[in-house]
Amino acid sequence: MQELIRKLLVALGEDPDREGLRDTPKRVEKAYTFLTSGYRADIARVLNNALFTVDYSEMVIVKDIDFYSLCEHHLLPFFGKCHVAYIPSTKVIGLSKIPRLVDVFARRLQVQERLTNQIADTINDTVKPLGVAVVMEATHLCMSMRGVEKQNSFAVTSAMHGAFRDSARTRMEFLELIKLRSAVPGLRDALSPGLACVGED
Ligand SMILES: [Zn+2]
Repeated sequence: MQELIRKLLVALGEDPDREGLRDTPKRVEKAYTFLTSGYRADIARVLNNALFTVDYSEMVIVKDIDFYSLCEHHLLPFFGKCHVAYIPSTKVIGLSKIPRLVDVFARRLQVQERLTNQIADTINDTVKPLGVAVVMEATHLCMSMRGVEKQNSFAVTSAMHGAFRDSARTRMEFLELIKLRSAVPGLRDALSPGLACVGED
């Protein structure tokens, strides 16, 4: 990877041997290795021993989970807050595992819609709850930094399963509790995902 970063610096018109850039390939490799460490994480292992059988069927919410990811179209960051809720059937998951799970999927090259779905699907498949909801709000630097449609550089996506999909009341309760930073028209009714990074240019 370091050789590639060096070539990239040259292609950008830089001198990779000047003092400030000498260690840049090494640093960038280290940074990218960390930022994509989700590819090498084992979900089963992350969630191992964290499922507990309980007699509890009220909504569990973990909100305002900070996340940082990289858009797969530009390799630029998108970051924001993730809100997760589920209604247990027979099992709950250790609360600290939910932010870990978000990190596992965020630390990959992503689009916000897929990231949202992967978190929801994984909770659905492992916890088998009566319902699960994930809402993500993020700023996309590939849009805000490049000055492309500035008003759309903030995107909200959602994934709903089970009770959150079937019951408007359950969905509303969740949305009330997380109090979205942005009032996204249509989200409350249709829960249609906002537009994340869609640029191919
Ligand atoms: Zn992008």
